[in-house]
Amino acid sequence: MQKAPVFNLQKFSIHDGAGIRTDVFFQGCNLRCAWCSNPESQPMEPLPGEKATAYTVNELVAELVKDKPFYDESGGGVTLTGGEALLYPAFVLELTRALHSAGIHVAIETAACVNEDVFSQVLSSVDFAYIDLKHYDDAKHKAGTGVGNGLILRNIANSLSSKTPVVVRIPVIPGYNDSEADSAGFANVLNELGVKEVQLLPFHQLGESKYKKLQLQYEYDGQKQMRESDLSAFAEALSKTGIQVQIGG
Ligand code: SF4
Repeated sequence: MQKAPVFNLQKFSIHDGAGIRTDVFFQGCNLRCAWCSNPESQPMEPLPGEKATAYTVNELVAELVKDKPFYDESGGGVTLTGGEALLYPAFVLELTRALHSAGIHVAIETAACVNEDVFSQVLSSVDFAYIDLKHYDDAKHKAGTGVGNGLILRNIANSLSSKTPVVVRIPVIPGYNDSEADSAGFANVLNELGVKEVQLLPFHQLGESKYKKLQLQYEYDGQKQMRESDLSAFAEALSKTGIQVQIGG
């Protein structure tokens, strides 16, 4: 029976989809964002001193179903995130089927940097998707995350013809993608793709202590957090072009 490594099950989450949710954080990511707030999630194997639990689908469903009364009461469910959940597509498909059989809503939060067929297949199986876009410019995307944005943009374009509702999420990072020119650059690319709805996530420092604990170098050490109000001009620049914008998750 297939298993997948999960480094955290975060119950009572209210930031990654509607209602009260359990976030399932899969171990492993194929990006290396310099601002990542879960650096422990990046390697496929946990770092020394860190842990991930290898769950079968049945074991994970048994855990997730415990909070079904809260999901039902609040219009919530389960959000598959990471790391990158789409590094385990067969597992995610089986898990989604099992959660649907239990009457549980399934969302995914992904950087969408995976094979287009895999992406489409998983996307059409879930009820809702957040797709992250870190930069509109290919070279800057590569500089900040280790990979270009070509595949991600193709997956975003394909996602818009899926029956699954999609919201594009932009983590707004000081000095990386937060300038006026950047808001115009995002607006161009998003409008070209036909994206209608965007969420802006202000840079935060929730991961700072993890870098210290793991003795990893952190490019944003001491960088001031952003408030939602810091993103007003950025949001306005996007919304002026017809995109519906929400600040914060
Ligand atoms: S995609 Fe997410 S989990 Fe992966 S490195 Fe970037 S911020 Fe971290």
